[in-house]
Amino acid sequence: MSPLLQKVIEGSRLSPVDALDILKNVPWTQVAEAANIVRHRINPGNKVGYTAFRIVNYTNVCEVTCSFCSFCRPAKSPEAYVLSLDEIRQKTLEAKSRGADQIFLQGGVNRDIPLSYYTDVLKILTQEQGVKVRGFSPVELVRIAEFNDMPLEQLLDILKDAGLSSVPGAGAEILSDRMRQMLSPKKLPAQQWCDTLAACHKKGLPGSANIVFGSVETPEEIVEHLSYVRNTQDIAGGFKSFVVWTFQPQTNKFPIRHVRGDEYLKLLALSRLFLDNIPHIEVSLLGMGLSLGELGLHCGADDINSIVIEENVLQNHGITTIEEAENFIRNAGFTPYRRSLNFD
Ligand code: SF4
Repeated sequence: MSPLLQKVIEGSRLSPVDALDILKNVPWTQVAEAANIVRHRINPGNKVGYTAFRIVNYTNVCEVTCSFCSFCRPAKSPEAYVLSLDEIRQKTLEAKSRGADQIFLQGGVNRDIPLSYYTDVLKILTQEQGVKVRGFSPVELVRIAEFNDMPLEQLLDILKDAGLSSVPGAGAEILSDRMRQMLSPKKLPAQQWCDTLAACHKKGLPGSANIVFGSVETPEEIVEHLSYVRNTQDIAGGFKSFVVWTFQPQTNKFPIRHVRGDEYLKLLALSRLFLDNIPHIEVSLLGMGLSLGELGLHCGADDINSIVIEENVLQNHGITTIEEAENFIRNAGFTPYRRSLNFD
């Protein structure tokens, strides 16, 4: 086995130069083998987690207009919507009847929504419906704070008081400013994305981080991304898990490429090795399918993310019931356990 892999198996931290060397030069099977060893060191036992939440896309109005996004609409579009409080209540009731106990609020940057809408939604979800809520990407939070003329920290206090318990690391895609200029020039630069999540974590709003790859990013930019995430975690410590996604075809305004299975598994495994300060690695069943997902559980991942009850941004090709999730994990040779959004 490569000396670099031996080093990380023995508990040393990989440098970004090491990670780039592994990504470029070490066969994926070796990386996967090392990641499997490290996965069992960090998460002993044979357990694989899943969770059950419903994504509620509360608005499709977004002024960020990422090149890859087919979901957002301009405010004046006839297809633009903002869900009413009652529609959100109904979706939550439906999700609860199908076993979900958590709601993931995801929308767009919509300056016409008053702050009271967010707090009312959070109160309905948590106080009336009794579900936990993860919500709002870093760019949504930064813009909501700006639209309401308040510091980010004050906004986080208000949302947390209203019931928010977790913030996703959404909108990371590739944390390299060259790629961000191509993908979504109006989104946050890489360092601001990290600073925003660090602020959330320091306020007691943990979440996850992810990478979305499969465009024209370079290996150097992938390692840059992993380094941003690891550095942020060293500072604030609120990433409970890391998910490896691939870009899915949504528009023709952004180049995407086919990601081979071995390429996906190698990055999944490298993530387990490099992100020594993040407890869990999630494999993406939505993007890569169930067979590769099963392999991913032997290449460093210890979680299959969530059964998907609704996902408008990306069409659903995953597991949709608790029974399916548990059977999938058992068939892969592991013991399923249901976790919360924050792994607590
Ligand atoms: S991906 Fe998110 S931030 Fe980007 S345009 Fe779509 S809704 Fe807006």
